[in-house]
Amino acid sequence: MSVKIALAGNPNCGKTTLFNELTGSSQYVGNWAGVTVEKKDGLLKGHHDVIIQDLPGIYSLSPYSPEEKVARNYLVKEKPDVILNIIDGTNLERNMYLTTQLLELGIPVVIAVNMYDVVEKNGDVINLDKLGETLHCKAIGISALHKTNCLEAAELALSSVGMKVKEHPHVFSGSVEHALAHIEESVSDKVDNHLLRWYAVKLFERDPEVDKELKLDKALMDHLDGHIKDCEEEMDDDSVSIIINQRYDYIERIIGTVLYRKKGEDQMSVSDRIDAVVTNRILALPIFFLIMTLVYYISVTTIGGWATDWVNDVFFGEYVNDAANVFMQSIAAPEWLHNLIVDGIIGGVGTVLGFVPQIMLLFFFLAVLEDSGYMARVAFIMDRIFRRFGLSGKSFIPILIGSGCGVPAVMASRTIENEQERRMTIMLCTFIPCSAKAVIISMITSVFFPGSVFMAPAMYFLGIAVIVLSGIALRKTSLFAGKPSTFVMELPAYHVPALKGVLRHMWEKARGFIIKAGTLIFTVCVIIWFFSSFDLSLHMTDIENSMMAAFGNAISCFFEPLGLGNWKSAVAVISAEMAKENAIGTLAVLNGVSDGASDAQMAVGIRSMMTPLAALSFMILNLFDPPCLVAMVTIAREMGNKMWAAIAISFQLVLGYCLAFSVYQLGGWLFYGMPFGIGQAVAVALCLAALYFIFRPAPHSKVSGKEREGAAV
Ligand code: GDP
Ligand code: MG
Repeated sequence: MSVKIALAGNPNCGKTTLFNELTGSSQYVGNWAGVTVEKKDGLLKGHHDVIIQDLPGIYSLSPYSPEEKVARNYLVKEKPDVILNIIDGTNLERNMYLTTQLLELGIPVVIAVNMYDVVEKNGDVINLDKLGETLHCKAIGISALHKTNCLEAAELALSSVGMKVKEHPHVFSGSVEHALAHIEESVSDKVDNHLLRWYAVKLFERDPEVDKELKLDKALMDHLDGHIKDCEEEMDDDSVSIIINQRYDYIERIIGTVLYRKKGEDQMSVSDRIDAVVTNRILALPIFFLIMTLVYYISVTTIGGWATDWVNDVFFGEYVNDAANVFMQSIAAPEWLHNLIVDGIIGGVGTVLGFVPQIMLLFFFLAVLEDSGYMARVAFIMDRIFRRFGLSGKSFIPILIGSGCGVPAVMASRTIENEQERRMTIMLCTFIPCSAKAVIISMITSVFFPGSVFMAPAMYFLGIAVIVLSGIALRKTSLFAGKPSTFVMELPAYHVPALKGVLRHMWEKARGFIIKAGTLIFTVCVIIWFFSSFDLSLHMTDIENSMMAAFGNAISCFFEPLGLGNWKSAVAVISAEMAKENAIGTLAVLNGVSDGASDAQMAVGIRSMMTPLAALSFMILNLFDPPCLVAMVTIAREMGNKMWAAIAISFQLVLGYCLAFSVYQLGGWLFYGMPFGIGQAVAVALCLAALYFIFRPAPHSKVSGKEREGAAV
């Protein structure tokens, strides 16, 4: 029989860091709540029969959120052998609220006070022996980040396995304890003995799930209710509040006896001082914009851009191309094979691979921003802004994750408990440029807007703007009306990012990207090459007479109003639906980097296909039309229903098309001397309609008086 140790604690207390340290695995350490929705298993290092389970971060065991449901069901139903409760030593009060509940489950608990490095740095002292003694369990100070005492904590947990929980800490006062004792007595034959205290408290709180589960008969319920009511009358409060208040009173008393603070509470820590600037009401957004612009500037425009140029021009353009040519000649390869290798594969896949340096740099910086604690602040800042429009910061977390890839972003929206808000977030979160879209941005800016510092970050901010504005407009429709979810988040102290973690994150992204280039992008490039090299009778032909040209010409009328009447851009847009990088791979193949044509010549080919304005429209269309196939499938699955999936994809299709259309039509009229015609009139009408939907007053304020009261509590 294997032993199960469950890691339980508040979001951001360092559970995943500890889990990785104990199991040697590399789960994603997110710096915000909700990254771990499902529990994860791993084996304790050096033990083949000890399973460590990373539960989602929770503040309590009352199932208000999906994470709390997962954690509560696991702890109550599956009963781990021991709970390793991780608490953030710099915030005992908040963290111990959960501890008082865990101690009621009748399972041995070991308390690991994490972030002990920070506690010590602040000059504070926590009397761990006394803490353990008071709570009738063992307590140990650890630092998951610095790997101090982690294995010792696990050993301590192992040594507690099988111990009977004899006594509960004295959390509740006389009259509450009295009522609880009555409840325990009445249900003692109906529930597992070790869970008696837990069920008694839940019944006292009139927890609907427990009421449903136990199905006590009416007479017994009335009897219990009598006790609860007596208590409520005596304390002049409702039973739920009584329990909450007494837990906090108890925690306050304990903290008074175990925590010795060196500095006065009013003295600000370094983190607080940084936050005073970074989350300042006026400065917060400009600082965020500045930081992201700098990130794009370094990773896309300058250093990353130079590296990509080198990979494309020198590495693939000369070395690989020359080697391939020499090899082809040496084996006297037929012309078609030569063509396939050089144009189709090196041209298409090579061009996409050229972006690896940029992707790596971009993710290096994003990982640094996240691990240092800055991105958690961004979610906090965004919550403040979103809230004014009836959105919540909870929606911003999937969006942040979406800057890596849309698929985990869509899945991360599971943590949003409000159904309308969750659906809306699924629908909008892929508008933030993911790594594949970053490639499109980078390619188009370097070919059409070289030297522009702002074009690339502008696309990132446009993504955020489109999400916020769509969110505002959608919230006013009856489909998505509702009040925003509550968003509580711990802001972890800033720290210097762990280089190993950052590099691992960067490498994982690059690896995923390279694998995708070698598989999906490769396949699509070969297909594009094939159909653009042969005609219907399978004779090798000039590209303009190929099957691809026929197909492209047939659909190009749809793209004409976007300035993309050239059949090659139409094909690129369609192929990008398989994977967004294909937009670039396809343009490369179709502009035949043929017979050793250099990257510069390919750029000339692409420039001859479209004007800079059309290129902007091409980029916008690819950024805002539906995401790649895998992301679309994920959207459909997470929506859980065909109609909602259809609504989401159609919305993206219409939005992407209309945006590109308006940019092309109005941009041409304003800046390129196009006459004002039907296209411009339609674009103006679209913009006015968009403004109307964004600014009209919310038509049906569905929030009833009762709900408003609830929200105010
Ligand atoms: P989870 O939400 O509980 O899984 O927490 P994570 O493991 O994702 O950690 C949240 C943040 O706290 C990360 O930025 C960690 O690097 C940081 N962290 C975790 N443990 C420690 C620690 O012992 N000391 C310090 N200073 N930071 C830590
Ligand atoms: Mg975690």
